[in-house]
Amino acid sequence: MRLADGYDPILFDLDGVLFRGPEVVPGGPEALAALRRDGHRLAFVTNNSARTPEAVAAMLGELGYEADPAEIVTSALVAAELVAARGYRRAFVIGEEGVRRALTEAGVEVVDGEPERTDCVVVGWDRAVTYAKLRRACLLVQRGAALVATNDDRAYPAPDGLWPGAGALLAVITTTTGAEPEVVGKPYPPLFEAAVRRVGDGRPLVVGDRLETDIAGANALGWDSVLVLSGVTEVERLAASDIRPTYVVADVRALLEPPPERDQK
Ligand SMILES: [Mg+2]
Repeated sequence: MRLADGYDPILFDLDGVLFRGPEVVPGGPEALAALRRDGHRLAFVTNNSARTPEAVAAMLGELGYEADPAEIVTSALVAAELVAARGYRRAFVIGEEGVRRALTEAGVEVVDGEPERTDCVVVGWDRAVTYAKLRRACLLVQRGAALVATNDDRAYPAPDGLWPGAGALLAVITTTTGAEPEVVGKPYPPLFEAAVRRVGDGRPLVVGDRLETDIAGANALGWDSVLVLSGVTEVERLAASDIRPTYVVADVRALLEPPPERDQK
């Protein structure tokens, strides 16, 4: 009996699970290849909206992970699906290529410059954002544009410290306008649900390194989860948290080993 037995699909977070910064998690590529051989469907779910699925697949490939772009579900993709499903035709975007491409491919016009009105404002991570763009986004929301966010991560953990995340940029708009955003990324359900829609329904297992997003999100859906200690969560932090994963393991290789005891706290 292996931990992964009976679970399908398996949803993997990326950073802290498959790699950490530039370093691949030892044995990770082999473990995922073995899960595929055993017939598990895999999906890769990321709150990072900057990269397209093709770019993420290429990055994983360089690290030794086989991944098809169709298995990669980004918060940008799901935000674009939501925008299109709501019938919004024109969007003003705070965000990078991943968000802009996803919206365009979903048939939504991305309006640049200083539009008077749009149907929605879509906010993702944007390393080139300006005051002028944030001001325009705030004005559009005040004039009735819906506010959609790829995710609300407060910070992006960079090698030299925390950088403002999509949630920090979103906070500029919500603080200014008082608007309530619709957020698709983890820990909210839309990203997880989109992944399962894409690769197939069953008994999903979420594998992640962050309690507040990966594990809290799985818990909210009633899905089992595996917290890997190869990423941001330290043992002390886990002990102090009210957010409980189903299993706690060292890294993804444990999916091929007998299940540990369920988390009992
Ligand atoms: Mg992570």
